[in-house]
Amino acid sequence: MAIRDKYDLEDLKNETEEFVFQELEKQLDAISDDDICKCQDCVLDMICLSLNQLPTHYRVSLMGTLYAKVESHELEDQISKVVADVIMKVSQNPGHA
Ligand SMILES: [Zn+2]
Repeated sequence: MAIRDKYDLEDLKNETEEFVFQELEKQLDAISDDDICKCQDCVLDMICLSLNQLPTHYRVSLMGTLYAKVESHELEDQISKVVADVIMKVSQNPGHA
């Protein structure tokens, strides 16, 4: 039985992803486009590196749209630090010339 064929997995969401997207958006908006590269490759790198360092929080979203809200300040701080660190790492060593 193929789980993916039998069940609709669209509603399965990793909330950490939403938090990382929001935090990355906030932090990137605060940095001028002239200072760091914000291309597709670099931003995807930033997302991967951030998510690999953070705990996952999966849940089933039945509302379709997920209005993510960070419940723990500890997690909020952790995400903010990881994202800031990753932005610096990727912008100093982009995966392209
Ligand atoms: Zn780039």
